[in-house]
Amino acid sequence: MVFRLPFNPAFAEENNTPGKQHQRGDKMLDTKEPGFRENVDLMFKRAVAHLDLPPGLAEKIQICNSTYTVRFGVRLRGKIETFVGYRSVHSEHMEPVKGGIRYAPEVDQNEVEALAALMTYKCALVETPFGGSKGGLCLDPRKYEEHELEQITRRFAYELAKRDLINPAQNVPAPDMGTGEREMAWIADQYARMNTTDINARACVTGKPLNAGGIKGRVEATGRGVQYALREFFRHPDDVAKTGLKGGLGGKRIVVQGLGNVGYHAAKFLREEDDARITGIIERDGALVSDTGLDPDTVREWIMQTGGVRGFEGAEFVENGSSVLEVECDILIPAALEGVININNADHIRAPLIIEAANGPITASADEILREKDIVIIPDLYANAGGVTVSYFEWVKNLSHIRFGRMQRRNEEAHAMLLVNELERLSADKELGWELAPDFKSRFLQGADELQLVRSGLDDTMRGAYQSISEEWHRRHDVKDLRTAAFIVGIERVAASYRAKGL
Ligand code: GLU
Repeated sequence: MVFRLPFNPAFAEENNTPGKQHQRGDKMLDTKEPGFRENVDLMFKRAVAHLDLPPGLAEKIQICNSTYTVRFGVRLRGKIETFVGYRSVHSEHMEPVKGGIRYAPEVDQNEVEALAALMTYKCALVETPFGGSKGGLCLDPRKYEEHELEQITRRFAYELAKRDLINPAQNVPAPDMGTGEREMAWIADQYARMNTTDINARACVTGKPLNAGGIKGRVEATGRGVQYALREFFRHPDDVAKTGLKGGLGGKRIVVQGLGNVGYHAAKFLREEDDARITGIIERDGALVSDTGLDPDTVREWIMQTGGVRGFEGAEFVENGSSVLEVECDILIPAALEGVININNADHIRAPLIIEAANGPITASADEILREKDIVIIPDLYANAGGVTVSYFEWVKNLSHIRFGRMQRRNEEAHAMLLVNELERLSADKELGWELAPDFKSRFLQGADELQLVRSGLDDTMRGAYQSISEEWHRRHDVKDLRTAAFIVGIERVAASYRAKGL
């Protein structure tokens, strides 16, 4: 029998793989550990200790400006069901504020506030001109039909939009765990219905489908960003040396936790384009391991058909999925929930390099243990910033009302043609003995389209941001890890914009 998931993770921004044992918000099974929001605060404080900020500024930056809680009823299946949602605005040092909307049963105020804070530092780090925000709705999207989700989403969007918590100039949501293009299209439409004369209505939300004002390359942007982040890391031999790894990405054994939108795209691109080997995939019902490597496409296809990884042929199935976080590999990519690497398992992690594709997958205590073990962590606020970076491009596209490349492309091609014609003329001269490579003409002539421009912008952003973190890491001898370095860069930029405002 083929079981079809009513909720298709292919459309969700982040992974939708809630593990039973995972930390959510401030709710931890292990009471010895602080919750997610405290974890972010601890990481912030560790970075601030290296900075010389004017009195009170660190507190102003750290504090979450506001969190709006909404409780609304929707008539579903003959009765009124009440939903609880949040939109938290962490910092308005730049506006609009930016951050996804998450649909998950465990969403709470602490979680959205922690995620909103991360958005502030993330946006500053990758130089997207936004403050930080995040939203969440407590519900399990798998339990609802599509038309029900539309009703719920539209009502939530209405509640937020009428308070300017969805607004192209003030607060621009995007997809996050449990939401995707479909929800963003409903939100955009709801906003447009409420603001019929707003010419920039489409810029009220990002991550929309292409036919509703979206941009090419947004769906895979976070996974693509993880790939670009790793590529840039491997371009820094001194940094790679700290992991003990040799060579480039080719042949590296990678374990991915969560094959949602981010984990899937990261694994797919790293395998197909960088020759990495996906030796482990952890999902909610268990994990798959294979020394020869797994193909994320076939595994994903299997998950779509059966609801999990169990029964997948050609790989060993491990019932206790989280134990695979501890297997020997070169790179570990947690791409699901927060708190999956915590005080209970940090000591058993064997990967020398971890890249945080999810937000907050490593708790502050685990971070400390991993640092002592000299494990290098490429932190979330940098590693998963590809999503918001391409969201920025989408927002700019919506505000400029024109697709990237539309004006220049043919002009560039005409220019390139001049050169090609001249080269062809010269290579016709037998005495010179020149010959053009067979595909040179077609490749050189092709002007950049929207997707190429998005990729180029994302690559440039990920390279630039890593360079600034790495520089900080090497320049300050008392900074021992990339996370602190990344926070320092982000906080300094937020502080600079507060100073510019005269605060
Ligand atoms: N939800 C994504 C994140 O956590 C994207 C946010 C956005 O594009 O605004 O970074």
